[in-house]
Amino acid sequence: MTDLVNFEVRRAEGEAFLSGLSQEVLRLVYDIPEATTTYRSKADIQRLLPQDMPKSSQGCEAFIEFVRSVFVPNIRTYRHGLHFGHQRPAPSLASEAADMLNGATNTTVSVFEAGPVSVAMESTVQSWLRRLFRLSDDAAVTFTNGGSESTLTALLCARERWEKAYPERDFRDACVLIGTHAHYCVERSARVVGIRPDNILRFPSDERGRASVPALRDLVRQITEKNTPILSIIANSGTTAMGAFDDLQAFRTLADACGAWLHVDASHGGAAIFVRELEDKIAGLNTADSFAWNPHKLMWVSPPCACLFVRVCEDLHLALVKDLDQAHYIVERSQHLNDEISHSENLEWTLACTRQFSALKVFASAFLYGTDATAHRIAAMCKLATALAELVRKDGRFALFCEPEFNIVCFRHIGNTHDPDAFNRDLRARLARQPACYLTGTEIDGAYWLRAQFTSETTNLDHLSLLLDTVDHEARRVQDKTSSKS
Ligand SMILES: *Cc1c(COP(=O)(O)O)cnc(C)c1O
Repeated sequence: MTDLVNFEVRRAEGEAFLSGLSQEVLRLVYDIPEATTTYRSKADIQRLLPQDMPKSSQGCEAFIEFVRSVFVPNIRTYRHGLHFGHQRPAPSLASEAADMLNGATNTTVSVFEAGPVSVAMESTVQSWLRRLFRLSDDAAVTFTNGGSESTLTALLCARERWEKAYPERDFRDACVLIGTHAHYCVERSARVVGIRPDNILRFPSDERGRASVPALRDLVRQITEKNTPILSIIANSGTTAMGAFDDLQAFRTLADACGAWLHVDASHGGAAIFVRELEDKIAGLNTADSFAWNPHKLMWVSPPCACLFVRVCEDLHLALVKDLDQAHYIVERSQHLNDEISHSENLEWTLACTRQFSALKVFASAFLYGTDATAHRIAAMCKLATALAELVRKDGRFALFCEPEFNIVCFRHIGNTHDPDAFNRDLRARLARQPACYLTGTEIDGAYWLRAQFTSETTNLDHLSLLLDTVDHEARRVQDKTSSKS
């Protein structure tokens, strides 16, 4: 039981509470457990939780005990050396500090008078990013809740510009061109802005997962011959499945030729900007009409922390400002409290009204580590991916999908089977239930591959052999099960 004073715990107990909690957080960062998770079932975890919403305080100590005995042991440890799972990093200490400050202050980034320091810091971080990506001062940088929101906002901009250019034409007759390996949010965003599903067209990729430029050129020619307008072409910098990068300069030329809005989904691969040896992969990114990049991937910060860049800021502004006249409770356009800032200013650049001050995570990371550390870390992850690919290539038990371009490797077990797709699918399902390592799978052009991505700072070369041996061990068990059935 806890005594509450003005609905809050007393100071002495509050101090004990926060220091107990920070001990747990420290253990999360520095003490890596043996297994990547406990593999308890959802029902088993739920049995450890209060079944009814507590009516009275359970107490600070009980909360710490809950964190220690239930929460921490049942997370998936992204910091584990054998974690190759989803593209979601273990947050850095800088990110944790930012989350703590955001949690403690709930400071806003929407209205200057309600969040002076956060609004000012967000503007500064936006200028940092404009310079990092070599954009002009005329470009808009906004923080969103993720790559999906960035893509949707980008397509709203595309629609707005198109409607302004062709007031006599219905944008719903226009088409949007997306890659075979586009993230699902791209097709969804196109549907949400009102593109007809049969006007969302896919261009094929080459054997390494990059957009096939000749095929795209053909598709654009066929469409324009039919007199159908192209609203937008969407390129990938770092596909979700295998981290492939499209040739952005070729996309720019094609988009210019047909008047389409070029959006680049660099949610994952935009981080290449930090690393000199990788920068070429995103050459031309700053010529796109818009692009998305998620620091909540390869900047090791917690979500949400994502950005949308729009090369001509007016395009974004026009798409979002129209409805703001109705927001009288926040927006006082005619009344400028101080000379430089109108209340509505930040709201005019984002789809969301309430947003987290996620720029603080970029700020804290740069402040604590410098961008050099981020660059080294990304380069190290890519090196590990290359090393795994090399091991796979030399190992008769496995097949490699292709040389990795970034921090993702797709490979599979050869097995003694007529159906490698079903075999590897079963294998992945088995791997998901064992404690040693964690990796995902992906479908590429109808074939099933295992997928390992690198974000864990504790992964080293020994883990790579361990991973392959674990995969092989489980593959034998799949094989045994299959042979005993037949
Ligand atoms: C992660 C990712 C997305 C989606 O971003 P969210 O922040 O999860 O909405 C979109 N595209 C690519 C290529 C991604 O890697």
